[in-house]
Amino acid sequence: MGVAFLPPLFHRYNQTFFARAIPYDRLRLVWSRRMSRAAGSYRRRGSVGEIALSLPVLSPLAASATHSTLVHEMIHAWVDLVQHQREGHGPCFRAKMEDINRQGTELTISIRHYFPVPPTPAPWQAHCNCCGATTPYKRRVKGLACRACCGRFNGGRWSQRFLLQFKRHPASVQGEARWG
Ligand SMILES: [Zn+2]
Ligand SMILES: [Zn+2]
Repeated sequence: MGVAFLPPLFHRYNQTFFARAIPYDRLRLVWSRRMSRAAGSYRRRGSVGEIALSLPVLSPLAASATHSTLVHEMIHAWVDLVQHQREGHGPCFRAKMEDINRQGTELTISIRHYFPVPPTPAPWQAHCNCCGATTPYKRRVKGLACRACCGRFNGGRWSQRFLLQFKRHPASVQGEARWG
């Protein structure tokens, strides 16, 4: 999906889940281009809260990922601006989250929901010195020989001569995005 315009979504969920209690005039809703490790975040500066959603994490995903992340951050805003509780994912947050999940809408909110990070190169590259092929791998595998070369030169049997050389991909980034 693309990038959703956030105010209408905010108003819809503020009505559905929070009885319009979250003060829109004390909240900023922003898309962040730079936040790439978390899907969303909430923080407050002075009396104004800010919900930031990650453009790189959420824009490639289905709309439901944006909606559930927005509602997750709205719970933080509600805990802070309405309930005046100083907590992260504490009892106040959890009670509201469970209340929302019990309503049986298409949204499921969780404390730790991991989205895949935007496509990054596989962290490892396996290189065959014989045929020159380079193959991406998620993890290093010991004793792996080039299948093409084993087939071509060794009747399909494994041979030490065609062992793949694993190298770290220089641009690889590991890890998963999470909700803040
Ligand atoms: Zn090879
Ligand atoms: Zn959170």
